[in-house]
Amino acid sequence: MGGLATVTMGSANPQQAETVTAQVSELFEDLERELSTYRSDSTVSLLAKNAGVNPLAVPEATWRVLNLAHHFGQLSEGTFDVTVAPVVKLWGFGGTSALANLPSKEEIQDQLKFVDYRRVILKGQTVFLPFKGMAVDLGGIAKGYAVDRAFDSCRDAGIKDFLIDLSGNIRVSGRPDWGEDWQIGVRDPFDRSRIIGKILLRSGMALATSGSYERFVEIASLRYSHIIDPRTGYPVTGTASVTVLARDATSADSFSTCFFVMGLKEAGGILQKTPPVDVLIVPDIYPTEIWLTSGLAEAFDPLPELSNGVKILTPAAT
Ligand code: AMP
Ligand code: MG
Repeated sequence: MGGLATVTMGSANPQQAETVTAQVSELFEDLERELSTYRSDSTVSLLAKNAGVNPLAVPEATWRVLNLAHHFGQLSEGTFDVTVAPVVKLWGFGGTSALANLPSKEEIQDQLKFVDYRRVILKGQTVFLPFKGMAVDLGGIAKGYAVDRAFDSCRDAGIKDFLIDLSGNIRVSGRPDWGEDWQIGVRDPFDRSRIIGKILLRSGMALATSGSYERFVEIASLRYSHIIDPRTGYPVTGTASVTVLARDATSADSFSTCFFVMGLKEAGGILQKTPPVDVLIVPDIYPTEIWLTSGLAEAFDPLPELSNGVKILTPAAT
């Protein structure tokens, strides 16, 4: 899945830790075989090959993730849309070489025709992408899903205190050896070597961050973020990073992508309708502002020099 996975265990004995680590890495490898965009033999790649041709019987994880993606597509009013894949590809994300030029308006419109999660036909564990050219990209949800499955494995193995981190998609259980609650640093989107503050995570909770610094392409020496607004076909601008606190990692992952697209201006509206999630948004402006919903305001401890920039984001703010 193009990132580093770590499982930190508190009180587990070393033998138990070894067994669970092996289980979790096998689980991640299995999921990658199904959900990866980068493997030509993954289920996701087969789906694209069968677009406009045949419905494909898919394994369990693909089925579940695509159903969840549909659900989050609805909740996010289409700002989270896994069928954005052809546009992601057009902008050169996941490609091997940098693009020399921006895609043209016409090229973008051509690929946008294939973008609409509501067109994906999910029926009896088969999936059909009805038009040739359609594809799905699960990069905004698969890691969160993987973390939730790993969380279940660890709990099922009888481990109480642990933290799972898959490239910034985090979920915790119990408490660390050294304190009451797990504490997670939120990276400064303008300076990777720093954090802007820390978040206390209660047992069972999940955290995900979408940042424009994580992955981007450079075209004619300008940086474009890897998250596309499915309504326009253009990479999102105006947001530097979004962190979401939720009750499970799949929700945190998909909502971090959704709020990244919505940005500060539109976030308030969607917050009124979402299930209980809390969000921290850092707009792409200077000096740094950190906008938080009230639930996160309690859990977030900013660096002292940034505390003047902390502001409360209310559901009615739009
Ligand atoms: P994340 O880092 O979780 O925000 O996920 C970003 C990844 O999700 C990108 O690298 C793309 O693979 C994919 N993606 C980009 N834009 C969207 C979108 N609007 N909805 C869903 N997935 C997206
Ligand atoms: Mg995400």
